Amino acid sequence: MIELTDVTKVYAGGVAALGGVSLRIDQGELVAIVGPSGSGKSTMLNVLGTLDRPTSGSVRIDSYDVAKLSDAGLSALRASRIGFVFQQFHLASGVRTVDNVADGLLYSGLRAAQRRKRAAAALERVGLAHRLDHEPHELSGGERQRVAVARAVAGEPAVLLADEPTGALDSQSGAGVMQLFRDLNAAGTTVVVITHDRDIAASLPRQIQMRDGRITAEVH
Ligand code: ADP
Ligand code: MG
Repeated sequence: MIELTDVTKVYAGGVAALGGVSLRIDQGELVAIVGPSGSGKSTMLNVLGTLDRPTSGSVRIDSYDVAKLSDAGLSALRASRIGFVFQQFHLASGVRTVDNVADGLLYSGLRAAQRRKRAAAALERVGLAHRLDHEPHELSGGERQRVAVARAVAGEPAVLLADEPTGALDSQSGAGVMQLFRDLNAAGTTVVVITHDRDIAASLPRQIQMRDGRITAEVH
């Protein structure tokens, strides 16, 4: 489903964030990418998710070679196949929960009423059917992250990429969000969770360890 081959990423200024990474993630997997701060995890997620292009090496998503797609083609691939969750939720303030999720479907071609219906269904999936009309400031951190997960999965992506999704949560809320990922994975979504937390990583069936822009170990 996702394949990186000899991927490097050198940022402007010369920081080599990825130093030659090869990795394959198959459909249906639940994977942790774990490593200390600065080890290149977010860079890897951005490359896996086609938010950023590598400096060298190849990235394949489904059967597409990312290097051969235009920016518009990449956006379309991303919109239809990949959902993202970030540490800081990235919800729009002053916007109801149901619309925060529905707005993630703006480019799906669905009408507004259908977008809202899908959003409500996604919120039910994450256990927030009773919070459709709340605004972000009326929700706990754990609930906000559930809204973000609902938004990420409302379009039924094949892959969910999460960058430190529990980093801003207390341990109980974090455990709830991790359980949600397990449930989504059991229902068929491929899930990749980036974390610096070894315990969280150890709770997932496959762990890819990173240090200094390289994969240092794999545990299955
Ligand atoms: P992690 O997510 O594991 O903390 P990152 O992928 O964010 O690691 O960063 C890897 C390295 O690349 C770090 O040294 C970081 O400072 C650097 N880096 C990240 N983003 C940029 C950027 N946009 N420009 C320059 N350097 C960056
Ligand atoms: Mg990071």
